[in-house]
Amino acid sequence: MSKYWDAPNQLRFGPETTHSNSLLPANHNLQKQILLRSISDKVQISSTLLPFYLFQVPSNLMEGVEASERVKRTTARLCSLCNQRKAALRRPKTLEQICRECFYNVFEDEIHRVIVENNLFKPGERIAIGASGGKDSTVLAYVLSELNKRHNYGLDLFLLSIDEGITGYRDDSLETVKRNELQYGLPLKIVSYKELYGWTMDEIVKAIGLKNNCTFCGVFRRQALDRGAALIQADKIVTGHNADDIAETVLLNILRGDIARLSRCTSITTGEDGPIPRCKPFKYTYEKEIVMYAYFKKLDYFSTECIYSPNAYRGFAREFIKDLERIRPRAILDMIRSGEDFRISTTTRMPEQGTCQRCGYISSQKLCKACVLLEGLNRGLPKLGIGRKKGGSGEDQEQSKRHLENKGLSLHGKHGNVEY
Ligand code: SF4
Repeated sequence: MSKYWDAPNQLRFGPETTHSNSLLPANHNLQKQILLRSISDKVQISSTLLPFYLFQVPSNLMEGVEASERVKRTTARLCSLCNQRKAALRRPKTLEQICRECFYNVFEDEIHRVIVENNLFKPGERIAIGASGGKDSTVLAYVLSELNKRHNYGLDLFLLSIDEGITGYRDDSLETVKRNELQYGLPLKIVSYKELYGWTMDEIVKAIGLKNNCTFCGVFRRQALDRGAALIQADKIVTGHNADDIAETVLLNILRGDIARLSRCTSITTGEDGPIPRCKPFKYTYEKEIVMYAYFKKLDYFSTECIYSPNAYRGFAREFIKDLERIRPRAILDMIRSGEDFRISTTTRMPEQGTCQRCGYISSQKLCKACVLLEGLNRGLPKLGIGRKKGGSGEDQEQSKRHLENKGLSLHGKHGNVEY
């Protein structure tokens, strides 16, 4: 039996779980019922959300909600911001005890301030919101469409989803995005790996196994988002990367000695020299607050982890950051500030940006990584693209050499590993 199913308590406070069938014990229906009761006793989760919490009860949500319950029990304390309504929660970022209305206001106002202070958008721009159906992108779509109306940004907003072709995960999460399309009145465009590359992730995993799947997925997704955004003539892409994601990425890039990525991973806008710039309006927004916002606003989102998600390096970095946050909530912001303040030595060799000779996509090498990986798949030699196998073409060997030079280079996506 998986340790994740040992006890509901462990589920509440333990690591994130997956809903992979291999984790389900034979008597999982009984355990589901026990867990269901346990969760229902703790939190009043709406019936539309509850099924998803069976498999991945976010410990951060539980902490936030339990904190808010503690507040209820100990007080009739007033909100420290408005001093009028009763406090309903303790804000994870500042530990202030505030009411729900003030939480909505500070949460939305902070994002608005980040957008304005960083000049993220110009009136009339077409903005593609990278939408996976998960909590971050769902809250981003909701908040951005609210702020767009409230502050007259003058933006044309679209949902842009990538269908990697992962049965039992992406097909379900895309159903959530389709509902969001109707709920928020935002047009949705879906582009699939199958149509762009001729392969689904299910087929890729069948060919390569579970070891490097996120490398393929992350590289293909990055390009797929650009291609999808070009199809809807978007001026910019916004993604739901939050403060926790960025702090983790800073830490991982330090651990890997990946100077090129370290120098840009804290930028709120990236890719200005590429086809379509990308922005992260949640750069300073805590993951716990995103979950609380989604929960209290009863937003419709999908919270199951990818069935191919590796349990790797990033997971350790994530836990480390969460531990630091527990002791000192500012640790996340401080990690981001440290990343912003790094000065890269002028003698450090940085990759030169060019374009792929085959597809024209931005690349620091002759062929972009997506073309190299695709060639490996199509030739029945998928490991060529990973750059570890000897005997490839000259280009393969050059890739391989560069790979060794950049030991520790990550190409993974946020799900499995780093940025995309
Ligand atoms: Fe792709 Fe993310 Fe799944 Fe890895 S975890 S296969 S990057 S969707």
